[in-house]
Amino acid sequence: MHAIRVHEHGGPEVLTLETVDDPSPGPGEAVVRMESIGVNFIDCYFRKGQYKTALPFTPGSEGAGTVAAVGDGVVDVAVGDRVASQNFVGAYAELARARADRLVPLPDGLSARDGAAAMLQGMTAHYLAASTHTLQAGDCCLVHAAAGGVGLLLCQIARRHGAFVIGTVSTDEKAALAREAGANETILYTRQDFVAEVKRITGGAGVQVVYDSVGATTFLKGLDCLAPRGLMALFGQSSGPVSPLDPQLLNQKGSLFLTRPTLAHYVATPADLRWRAGEVLGWVRDGSLRLRIDRDLPLANAADAHRALEARETTGKVLLHA
Ligand code: NDP
Repeated sequence: MHAIRVHEHGGPEVLTLETVDDPSPGPGEAVVRMESIGVNFIDCYFRKGQYKTALPFTPGSEGAGTVAAVGDGVVDVAVGDRVASQNFVGAYAELARARADRLVPLPDGLSARDGAAAMLQGMTAHYLAASTHTLQAGDCCLVHAAAGGVGLLLCQIARRHGAFVIGTVSTDEKAALAREAGANETILYTRQDFVAEVKRITGGAGVQVVYDSVGATTFLKGLDCLAPRGLMALFGQSSGPVSPLDPQLLNQKGSLFLTRPTLAHYVATPADLRWRAGEVLGWVRDGSLRLRIDRDLPLANAADAHRALEARETTGKVLLHA
């Protein structure tokens, strides 16, 4: 089969298409013929060696397709089932392995393309709005990078909870997309002081939650946007990692809460995974959660996908197709 391989850490150019042996499923595993493959920021961190895995490797964890083979003891899925997952091992390939209990069925009427686009970013937006802090009517939240993959979905789901949503973005075009996704207000954080803007919009009160996927350039100022006892949910670092923090700062800035959540802990059990994925995929199918697929590229062009993501060129999901 064809797969993207990484032999040394580096820029997007280290992603090369090669012919490799087909994977075979171990006990409890399934092999899926990939139709659509999700590209995520975390794939860049592994490519660069910021997150560790042994070399050489095939990147990617998200996608959807049809089960091609199952290993011993698999009862959750059968050959021919249409499935999606954010837990593939080496998703940038024609065939990819996953634990069978990490696969979720694609609902009838939902394409593999939509399934692949919704899993990781959709369930992330879901847990942030529903579980990290359960947003309620009357809450006000700040969503950084609101026109990004997670951002556009988080704006929609936060509004679904009845929250007032302020989104930050880098361009006017992205501001329009964030508003279409439900942001009540947008701030151009490349031109405006977002702390002053949040204070102005909230009449000085601040927000109950900051959802920060940007990290280095936004984190500290984000603490100044929070109402007393507010929550900073730092869930990414698109602009770089955040420096260590003195807990005393949380006291000084209003008895704040800080969490650094990750999806794995919010879909740890098969029941959690099926519930969260079921809601997200169900909303996509009934049209109440709109996906924005920024671009579809052939698997061979994985490097272009990474370049676009890192250059802030994308608004929504980037997919590869095997
Ligand atoms: P996005 O599509 O949101 O892309 C990142 C966005 O961040 C850009 O479009 C850009 O928006 C903004 N940004 C700000 N500064 C920079 C910079 N220096 N370089 C690049 N982008 C920058 O990506 P995703 O939605 O897929 O992921 C967002 C973040 O969330 C990533 O860091 C990812 O790792 C993390 N994540 C974490 C999860 C978790 O469970 N913890 C799960 C999923 C994602 P703009 O131009 O408007 O500033």
